[in-house]
Amino acid sequence: MSLAFNYQGSPARIVFGTGTSKDVARWVEELGCKRALVLSTPHQEKDAHAMAAQLGGLSVGTFTGATMHTPVDVTERALVHARDVCADCVVSLGGGSTTGLGKAMAWRTDIQQIVVPTTYAGSEVTPILGQTENGVKTTLRNPKITPEVVIYDPELTLGLPVAMSVTSGLNAIAHAAEGLYAPDRNPIATMMANDGMRALKDALPVLITDPRNLEAREKALYGAWLCGTVLGQISMSLHHKICHTLGGSFDTPHAETHSVMLPHTIGFNALAVPELMAPVSEIFGGPTPGQALYDFAKSIGSPMALQDFGLSEADLDRAAEIATKNPYTNPRPIDREAIRALLQDAWRGQRPPY
Ligand code: NAD
Repeated sequence: MSLAFNYQGSPARIVFGTGTSKDVARWVEELGCKRALVLSTPHQEKDAHAMAAQLGGLSVGTFTGATMHTPVDVTERALVHARDVCADCVVSLGGGSTTGLGKAMAWRTDIQQIVVPTTYAGSEVTPILGQTENGVKTTLRNPKITPEVVIYDPELTLGLPVAMSVTSGLNAIAHAAEGLYAPDRNPIATMMANDGMRALKDALPVLITDPRNLEAREKALYGAWLCGTVLGQISMSLHHKICHTLGGSFDTPHAETHSVMLPHTIGFNALAVPELMAPVSEIFGGPTPGQALYDFAKSIGSPMALQDFGLSEADLDRAAEIATKNPYTNPRPIDREAIRALLQDAWRGQRPPY
């Protein structure tokens, strides 16, 4: 097989290690900034205030209104606030929702971003922004959306609840698994995908019984960085398309939806590219990629069935319709009936046949 590829590394500075979030001030200064606005969700308000206090004279306070799906009206409010306090950079402290707000601000104003992730979603290393307006979610990709600095401090993930650690970890694994068959894949992304999945496969089972295990938290966050980087560098296919459809049109929860769909979409596609997907069976230990992922997800207490999110069987018809309406690259041809059958298995929560 010949080797030909096109590779572009991410320009973002990655700072990884326990205690690194204590150095945020240094990175604000390295960016040439003096007035950092700390962003968070209302749930992480206390942590945001603590971060602002730690920044001292380099902080102009907090905006703690970040929320799921990056609504445009929240972004507009945050921008008015940032202008009022003359912020010259944001420090996004939290998961994908907070990172999304910082990205939405940067997309509109080029404000510099430092992200301190506290989940495994991976948004902090991608040039992708999903935002919603009048109930419609749109996604765009542009280099200016990529944050300048990402500080991964495993200590900040010690309090991530077990259920969220599991689904967020599976969300990260989804980026890596789909990266293995992407048409624009390259050897670096494939290495990152395999190493990222291995790290999460090792760490997540430890975290369900010992959530404050710092070594496992470190490994999980390392895996999340690798998997997120894959998402940021190459294209995604059926799995991300279906999750986007379910989240966007039926308001199913983000990481949980990825967790339920993962064995079904990956198993379905692996039939077309078994050699590319062999690492999934090898890493997760199972007869087929789909079944290996299903057994792993079940063993760590993941949600397994779409019906648990309040979806009806009639919703599946509509979801299959939406997810197959516009063509996109996928290793297996996508037809409505096959996708409807796959959704039925995921709805019931049964082990995929592949
Ligand atoms: P989230 O950011 O919505 O967080 C969920 C809740 O958990 C929030 O209330 C948050 O404050 C809280 N939380 C976060 N970290 C915590 C911690 N360590 N301890 C306690 N509570 C904590 O969840 P998420 O799954 O990280 O992000 C989901 C969003 O990110 C979705 O909107 C999704 O579309 C987006 N996303 C975007 C990309 C991209 O590349 N654009 C990639 C992945 C996800």
